[in-house]
Amino acid sequence: MLAVIMRKWILQLFFVPLFFASHYDVLIVGGGPAGLTAGVYASRMGMKTFVAEGAVPGGQLTTTHLVENFPGFIEGIQGPDLIANMRKQAVRYGATIETKNATALQKNDSGYTLTLSSGETVSGKALIVATGSSPKLLGLPSESVLFGKGVSTCAVCDAPFYKGADVIVVGGGDSAFEEALLLAKFAKNVTIIHRTDRFRASSILQERVKATKNIAIRTWTTVKEVLDPTKDEVTAVIVKGPHGEEKIACDGLFIAIGQTPNTQWLQESVELGPSGQIASCPKGVFPAGDVTDTRYRQAITAAGSGCKAALDAYEYIQSQGGNR
Ligand code: NAP
Repeated sequence: MLAVIMRKWILQLFFVPLFFASHYDVLIVGGGPAGLTAGVYASRMGMKTFVAEGAVPGGQLTTTHLVENFPGFIEGIQGPDLIANMRKQAVRYGATIETKNATALQKNDSGYTLTLSSGETVSGKALIVATGSSPKLLGLPSESVLFGKGVSTCAVCDAPFYKGADVIVVGGGDSAFEEALLLAKFAKNVTIIHRTDRFRASSILQERVKATKNIAIRTWTTVKEVLDPTKDEVTAVIVKGPHGEEKIACDGLFIAIGQTPNTQWLQESVELGPSGQIASCPKGVFPAGDVTDTRYRQAITAAGSGCKAALDAYEYIQSQGGNR
């Protein structure tokens, strides 16, 4: 009797979800500009399209305020609005979008099966991977203890908590400069700490930062420790600069030092490059956006690569006998 129950249980757990997997032409993982653009193109070309947009819809654009450089919006557009429009456009052409993560990928006879965070499975003839990237951290133990308690990677999310406060931003790229400019609207003082004196930030952002009275810049400086884990809040940072170690009092630390591609869940199925980006994929799998781009990482380049991935997936499916 026990053996019968066990067999039924094993069947239900492993085989029933696969048997009842919903079938699509194209599976897309990721709900940022790359995934949603792929969703618009794939569904508009008549392919039955499924998008797993992740646990939080929209990717990093939802934590961006005004996007000023996405063509077509003269005055710019708010990141969340841009994403909401792309999402509606994909749905309008018939894409199914679910707010779930993909947790595993399996090859099957006719394509790929994705396991979703809900435990369900979906299968498709082709797969587009557009899972984006996540903010890098400095790797200090005190930073992880104080993450969410004064240490942040998202000024759009947290800047309003720092009214009249002193904050530090680490990094010298567009993200650091944008975060500093936003924080300067709330905080009393913002200090950008950068490890060299060469900035990757675009000249327009550098000019804006220079023109903002309450932003200071310290170059050739690195953060060594965040204080104070024993108080469960940020009170200061220990930095090492041209004149040795120093303690700088502050209420918040924003880290904006670049991104790591979200590819860990795929490492058994694709070949990863030195930065964790997708270097090459098996047949029928098409990467798009930040998972494969270590250089440009713009919303518009992600959208463009989502478009290319959908066109490639279409061609691939036709070569395998067509969709539906
Ligand atoms: P990024 O351009 O790669 O810049 C990262 C910055 O962090 C660099 O200054 C780098 O210094 C520094 N850094 C890296 N690792 C560090 C560490 N361990 N400790 C201290 N500093 C460290 O990254 P990003 O600013 O996130 O931008 C990523 C991409 O998104 C870029 O293509 C950017 O143009 C784009 N972006 C665009 C906009 C916009 O157009 N409005 C806004 C945000 C981001 P080094 O230079 O010394 O390596």
